[in-house]
Amino acid sequence: MAPATESGLVFEVQTLTSKIVAPDGTPVEKPVEIRTDPVTGRTCRVTYARAAEKETGTAALPEPPPAAADREACPFCRPQMNRRTPTLAADLADADRLEKGNSVLFPNLFPYGRYSAVSLFDDRHFVEIGKASRQSYTDSFHNCRRYLKRVHASDPAAVYMAITQNHLPSAGGSLVHPHLQVHADRCPPNHLRFLEQRTNDYHARTGRGLFSDYLSCEREAGSRLIGQTGNWHWMAAFAPEGFFEIWGILPGICSLFGLDADHWNCLSQGVLNTQQFYRSLHRNGYNLGLLAIETAGSRLEIRVRILARSNYAPWVRNDHTGYEVMLGDMATFNAPEETAALARPFFSKDL
Ligand SMILES: [Zn+2]
Repeated sequence: MAPATESGLVFEVQTLTSKIVAPDGTPVEKPVEIRTDPVTGRTCRVTYARAAEKETGTAALPEPPPAAADREACPFCRPQMNRRTPTLAADLADADRLEKGNSVLFPNLFPYGRYSAVSLFDDRHFVEIGKASRQSYTDSFHNCRRYLKRVHASDPAAVYMAITQNHLPSAGGSLVHPHLQVHADRCPPNHLRFLEQRTNDYHARTGRGLFSDYLSCEREAGSRLIGQTGNWHWMAAFAPEGFFEIWGILPGICSLFGLDADHWNCLSQGVLNTQQFYRSLHRNGYNLGLLAIETAGSRLEIRVRILARSNYAPWVRNDHTGYEVMLGDMATFNAPEETAALARPFFSKDL
């Protein structure tokens, strides 16, 4: 077990062994780690023995899905986008859709909450993981920010905000066309509600930012640090709740509206670096999440989470088994310190 750091954050690892008799009659002990996330207090498992299992569909990067070849059926492809996607309500914009570079933002036809939009990036109908341009991501993030600013001006109570991405159906994506989802609501989803409480409590107790202190601990430890893009600091999650989970922390900033052009550009670079890392592992599905609480007193510093999902390929198993769904602990197969070591080369290039 790791000792409490100066900040009081505890990076706890319990190691246990499971004793079994191997098929050849040899007694063996299989190590399992239980790690506790210092931010959430949630536990996860690192089940090292399962790394030896053959993971279907990861021998090579899977072929693009059939929908990748069907532009005509895609409501996000032009010219049909203009007649098949909804337009913004009059109180949010004076235009039907928001445009920035080649990014277009419009409401989600199937909203998740009070404010739910889709921000396209890249002109191509299908972009493989790690192959989008940095500028297209940056433009799309800018559009998300513009939309959220307008929501904030129109409905100041809708302070719980997020930008997410589902790359391919195995990660929850319904259309392959490159896009981000943008969310704002008066009612916080679970993670935002919990993080609001945790970061407020931490600040009241210490006078400091929880993620700033988390980053300081990780800088001291070093083993999970991956790299930096501008002011974004990238690291493997200590207690991952997804495979090869990577965090990007922007210390000291608690509002998406406080990010300038360079911040978005450097975020895009980190996202693409991570995608290229996943691509090197032959992973084609992933999720991204960037959460914020847009109140003057918010203590939730900006952090992006990115994790690989099950590959989208025939007969690949889901990464959430009965263990994750019913017991609530994620069970990954490799050490976060190994994730960091494998990811570092993809962050070694300068902007
Ligand atoms: Zn398309």
